[in-house]
Formats: sequence, structure tokens, C-alpha cells
Amino acid sequence: MTSLPLHTRYVTGLQAVTPGASAYLQPDGHYGLNNAGVFWTPQGAVLVDTAFDVPRARHIAQAVLHSGRDHSQIAALILTHDHGDHSFGACAIPTPRVIMSSTAATALREAAAGTRVRYGSLHGAGREMMETLLADKFDFTEVKYRAPTETFQGEARFGFGATTLRVIEFQNLHTASDSIVVDEEQHVAVMGDLMFADSHIPMFMPRSRHWSAAMDQVLAMDLEHFIPGHGRLCSRDDVRAHRDYLLWIYDEAERRFRRGMPVSAAADDLVMHLGPYAHYQRADVLINSLDTLYREISPDHPRSSFNEHLAQRWHFRMRWRGKLPGLTDPLPLNTRLGGFRTLSEMNMLGAGTE
Ligand SMILES: [Zn+2]
Repeated sequence: MTSLPLHTRYVTGLQAVTPGASAYLQPDGHYGLNNAGVFWTPQGAVLVDTAFDVPRARHIAQAVLHSGRDHSQIAALILTHDHGDHSFGACAIPTPRVIMSSTAATALREAAAGTRVRYGSLHGAGREMMETLLADKFDFTEVKYRAPTETFQGEARFGFGATTLRVIEFQNLHTASDSIVVDEEQHVAVMGDLMFADSHIPMFMPRSRHWSAAMDQVLAMDLEHFIPGHGRLCSRDDVRAHRDYLLWIYDEAERRFRRGMPVSAAADDLVMHLGPYAHYQRADVLINSLDTLYREISPDHPRSSFNEHLAQRWHFRMRWRGKLPGLTDPLPLNTRLGGFRTLSEMNMLGAGTE
């Protein structure tokens, strides 16, 4: 069993994982800075996921097209889920085929129609948080909705000459539908947002038990290299650590729920008892995960809205900024309005479909 190739470093751009697979990494992996995967097949490159905006998606496409490999045209794009950082750039990828689960495709179409309403209605601390997350890192002006050309349900295999890619869908873990893309011969899996590296992972579906079981299912496969949705490249040990994290955080949430601690007090208490996870980035998403886990433990626990989840994170950040990894002071207002403005004005269906 080999570990990660020694030459892989966590820097922006295309990096070989195995002879037949690469990753396009976007450090530091925080909000909107996701990874993509590439499988080099006899029929061309198969790209898994794109980027949040068109300039970043073009960088990915150019890196693939100018990789110097034979068959470097892009034969197909597979999208792991509907979240914008993975899917919005699809309109800028020169490929005739876009593949997605039918559930994720429905979610993407609804997101495309509703982005303006969803972001434009953010207010108060929720809006402050989204402006800070987007800062001026992204330019959404050219994003257009692109419908998938092929959909599947559950599991599917796609042949590209001698290469077969296995796509496996998991429902209601990170989103309504998240797929992983596996090349069994290369022992590589692109995990989408079912896995982050060195980071707390936000949980919005009260199904952590199913999520850890899904990671056991992944570990049962003969795989060695894992491209997470955000963060550095991962090994089997990292998948195990992620499975254990999901079990750990449920137990931590349950203990605090039974003691009657409100979510915000539970989050403040938990960050002082992170143990092996003290170095993890994005500690502010813990408060969202605890809120969701309370609902998993007790279905009577109220469901928070998108704005409420963002506001929870904002207030948590204000309490803990400078004291936890990655939680810096909020950016000045003039450096964090551009991305929010274009995102809250965007209506991808209105901008044109193809
Ligand atoms: Zn996501």
C-alpha cells in the first residue's frame, strides 16, 4: 500500500496523482475554493467538477488542454453535486457531455433559477457572513446555467475507451445528492464535498450516521488516492480520520444536547475540547453542524434557515476570531462587496441556457 506521491504539494494548479489521474487544486480550500479531478482516458480527459466562476473554470480547462498529454481534449465533465463552487463553471468547459445525477441536476436547475432570491434576501449577520466568505475572490458575471446532457440514478459506469469510470451517488449527506467518481484501475476517487482535508465540514442534513457509513463503504473499496472537495490530496488514513470525525462529532453533540446546552453554548464549549481536531480549519462551521446534529438527535429541534445558519457562523466568528485556525478579523467592507453583488444579482436561467 503506497501513500501519497511525494511530489504532490498543495499549490494551485494541475498535479499528477497517478499516471492516469490528476487533481486541480485551489488552496487554501476555504469557501468557494474547491478541487477538481481529471482522469486521462484514451478518449480524452474526463473532468470532475469545475470552479465557482468562469475565470477560474477557464484556468482549469486551459491547464487540461495544455497538459501536453495525448488526447487532452475534454471528453466529458462529471459534476459531483449542485453547489456553485463545483458546478457554476460548467458553462466555460469545452466539452459536449455533462454528466450529473438526476437529483443533483434538479437541484442545480432550481439553484440557477433562485440564486438572486436566495442571496439577495440575506440580511443582517447572514449577509455580513456571505460578503466575508465571497470577498472579492470571485467574478460571477459570466456564469450561465448549463444543463447536464446525461443523468443517472444510484450508480453508473461510463466507458471512455479502455478506461471505465464508476460514479456512485449518495443521497442526503452533504446535499440531496453527492456522487464520487472512481477509477478502480488507478485506485483513485474524486470525493466531491463528501470529504474535506484538515477542516471541519459543514453538516446541513441530519444524517451523520449515514455519512460515516458511506465512508466505510468507500474504505471497503480498493482505493488509495482521494481528491477531496476542498484541501490537500488525501490517503486512506485521511478517509478513516474523516469517518472517525463524523462519529466523534455526533457523540460530542449528543452529550451537550443531553445536558441541555443551547447550540451556541455547545459550540463555544466544543471548540475548547477539539482534541485531535484542534488544527482543523473552518471552526465556524461547527456551530452549523451542531445545530444540524441536534436535529438528528431530536427531530423536534427547529430547522434553521440559510440566513440563520450564516448568522450563527458570523456571531461565532465574532466571539472566536484570532483564537482559532483560519478565523481572522472580518475584511473591510470595500474588499468584500464585489462577489456578493454579482452573486445576489445573478439569475442564471435569465442569463441564458444552453
Ligand atoms: Zn458543496
